[in-house]
Amino acid sequence: MLLLEKFTIGVGDRFAHQAKAQLKAFQLAAAQGVAVVPVWNKSNREHTFIGSHPQSVFDAAQAAVEALNWTGGWHVDADHIRMETVDKFLPCSDFFTIDVADSIGKPPEDRYVERFLAKHPELIGTVTIAGIAEPFQTDATSVAAIARKYLSATWEAGQIFQHIKRSKGAKQFIAEVSMDETDTPQTPPELLIILALLADAGVYAQTIAPKFTGRFNKGVDYVGDLAQFEREFNDDLAVIAHAVKAYGLPKNLKLSVHSGSDKFSLYPIIRRALQRTGAGVHLKTAGTTWLEELIGLAEAGGDGLALAKEIYAYALAHVDELCAPYASVIDIDRTKLPSADVVNTWTGPQLASAIRHIPGHPGFNAHIRQLLHVSFKLAAKAGTHYTDLLKANEAIVAKNVTENLYDRHLKPLFIG
Ligand SMILES: [Zn+2]
Repeated sequence: MLLLEKFTIGVGDRFAHQAKAQLKAFQLAAAQGVAVVPVWNKSNREHTFIGSHPQSVFDAAQAAVEALNWTGGWHVDADHIRMETVDKFLPCSDFFTIDVADSIGKPPEDRYVERFLAKHPELIGTVTIAGIAEPFQTDATSVAAIARKYLSATWEAGQIFQHIKRSKGAKQFIAEVSMDETDTPQTPPELLIILALLADAGVYAQTIAPKFTGRFNKGVDYVGDLAQFEREFNDDLAVIAHAVKAYGLPKNLKLSVHSGSDKFSLYPIIRRALQRTGAGVHLKTAGTTWLEELIGLAEAGGDGLALAKEIYAYALAHVDELCAPYASVIDIDRTKLPSADVVNTWTGPQLASAIRHIPGHPGFNAHIRQLLHVSFKLAAKAGTHYTDLLKANEAIVAKNVTENLYDRHLKPLFIG
């Protein structure tokens, strides 16, 4: 089986210019003796917005790997695919994030739920899991309710998994199952039942992305109860270790944290949990590399700064339309968004500080950052004007991309 490495980071590169700068961060980690593997991801939705094709992600990644003589692992993730969208990713991806969140709650026929209960008496009653102090207390009704909620989603994951397997061959791809894009978080007892359902559906997933408690807004820190997150994250790790043995799932099955970039308050918790248990993790960043491009262009001054200001002005004028599709994953206080006139008076370093995610920095503005995060379509619209500026200012942009990934992400998660 193509095995997913222990520590992996999902990186996005919307305009296919930063793969080298991203890979550089993984080289810096490797130089510290920590093997972290990049997984370049791009969803169908993102390809549609940008007007790019899945093959371009593979090509950019491969070019970076060759340019930097990277000898570690690397993967290309068909991000959040479904049956309708998977086919064009098959030739150029080796990692598939199978998104079945939309099928959560779709009621299956009762006989399938009954069959699940009959097959899994171990889930009913007192369920003791190594590493969790309080055993789960369940009964047939509560297990049936959870099975009913997730059965269709896991079956669908099975169909997509089989479809990929027919095309790629059984041992040639890595599967992740994602359930994060839904309204309610999945609790550790739910995760246990989901894993049993996935095993029954023949899904040999190496990572699973549940929806965790709290808010995972795009490009900014976690908002929620840290103690509850820590408890549930630790319980999830224990549930996974248990399910691997109980249901014959891949031994390297690990958690995947989506929208995981910028969650600075969670990294010490995640790091402690990984150190304590020896577990791995996949952390998917949220397409924030493009913000580092904007920061670099702002710092560069001249035409770069002018375009960054133009993008801000346009975004501010179209704030409703840009934010609507992301309403559940951003929290923008519009009174904290300065007018375009004000921003037009700023220097490059001033605008760069407003966007760059350094929470304690007096110039940082999380509202500007989130608005710009959802405005990448404007850069796509600028076309070669934007990408030519990226090329002309490659060094300063790359510096920001590498620093963000290494200093603010890889270091606190894996190096300290
Ligand atoms: Zn996701």
